[in-house]
Amino acid sequence: MTNLTDLTIASALDGLKNKEFSATELTTAHITAMENARDLNCFITETPEIALKQAEAADVRYANGTNLALDGIPIGMKDLFCTDGTQTTAASHILEGFIPQYESTVSGKLWDAGCTMLGKLNLDEFAMGSANTTSYFGNVINPWKDDSGKDLAPGGSSGGSSAALAARLCLGATGTDTGGSIRQPAAFTGICGIKPTYGRCSRWGVVAFASSLDQAGAMARTVEDCAIMLNTMCGHDGRDSTSSTREVPDFTKALEGDLKGKKIGIPKEYRVDGMPEEIEKIWSQGMEWLKNQGAEIVDVSLPHTQYALPTYYIIAPAECSSNLARYDGIRYGLRETGDDLRDLYELTRATGFGKEVQRRIMIGTYVLSAGYYDAYYLKAQKIRRLITQDFDNAFEQVDALLTPTAPSSAFALGENEDDPIKMYLNDVFTVPTSLAGLPGMSVPAGLDSKGLPLGLQIIGKAWDEETVLNVARGIERAANFTAKPQILGLKDKAA
Ligand code: GLN
Repeated sequence: MTNLTDLTIASALDGLKNKEFSATELTTAHITAMENARDLNCFITETPEIALKQAEAADVRYANGTNLALDGIPIGMKDLFCTDGTQTTAASHILEGFIPQYESTVSGKLWDAGCTMLGKLNLDEFAMGSANTTSYFGNVINPWKDDSGKDLAPGGSSGGSSAALAARLCLGATGTDTGGSIRQPAAFTGICGIKPTYGRCSRWGVVAFASSLDQAGAMARTVEDCAIMLNTMCGHDGRDSTSSTREVPDFTKALEGDLKGKKIGIPKEYRVDGMPEEIEKIWSQGMEWLKNQGAEIVDVSLPHTQYALPTYYIIAPAECSSNLARYDGIRYGLRETGDDLRDLYELTRATGFGKEVQRRIMIGTYVLSAGYYDAYYLKAQKIRRLITQDFDNAFEQVDALLTPTAPSSAFALGENEDDPIKMYLNDVFTVPTSLAGLPGMSVPAGLDSKGLPLGLQIIGKAWDEETVLNVARGIERAANFTAKPQILGLKDKAA
């Protein structure tokens, strides 16, 4: 019997079509895995009854030949996407008990295509973090282990998504990426994750962090699975004014082409000080792999790279302080009682928001305040423009860029916690892409000497996810990454 939790989306769809197993069997296997892996804390809310109802409907469609694009595929939904009738928390105490009466566009598209919802995945509070340690609902544990015996971080903010995929608890998951939250957790857990171009996926119904950067994307165990998910997730939505009207291509077609004559840029500024040798090595290995498949490696320069992190950590908090102003204790979730209205606001926000979120609200309020706006926020916006221009210039010479995804493999939970700057440094390779609104993808490339996964990042031109996927497929083909984490759902362990 096939191990149902170890399938890819593509192979599961084949199996369902060929009646090798039913959607109900496939979903049940994942529900069992999810329940057996509660120690990893991947899910904030489990919704097995919803998943089974959806699976039943999928089975009817398979029986009468009206099956949909993703019919019967069990997925996890990052708990930042509003789901009609199901608690949506953004991993924050302030939203605990909030049950939306509407569905986000992206999650709605996935249900409409037949996916089954296993539950709502854990994340950093309001997607602010790089280790999934800021969640009100507790840390997520990376199913990968090193010799230290310590629990490792699954990356963040989409840490529930990445850990659940690595542990074989779902076949696909949604993520959101504001400065790296799809790509860095993908790298930390040995899975694939793509952040499409800003505007490809609707932000409607996604709890906002930094609106000019937030973008939904796909996480799965193969490049092809990410392409399959994107086909459903992308597309224009009149309810999001920044959503693009461009036609959505069939992203799976992009995987077919070879890499002959493709020019791949290597940005010299990404060779940052103190980068571990192993990261350098996997990067060079990636270049070799692409060269062997006919691509040409070209050195390029992105001269404003060093300003990307400080720029991001002004713009993102600024937008967060404005977006999070709506949580006042009146309209959503938590309400603390105070002596008067002001007291109610203050107590609710002091109790409801965690430390990292409060830190960002304060930084953001400061950089937007009269007298500092020009010095910080406006300046950051100007540098953002220069960073975008750097990419424009590079893309005159090359088709895509290849870089490491993160400057290290997964670190221990608790590490970097007392030093926010050190935590922010984790985003050094992912943030520039976000500031420029470009598509970026992380694909597993190998293991380091500790036996932990390392990812490579492919960055593309705006709206050219196809080249990104094509190059990612080239890396995937050469890397042939088959390693699995030590902790899997009990069902898998027994198998
Ligand atoms: N780690 C980054 C941050 O904390 C990125 C988060 C994200 O992409 N949502 O802001």
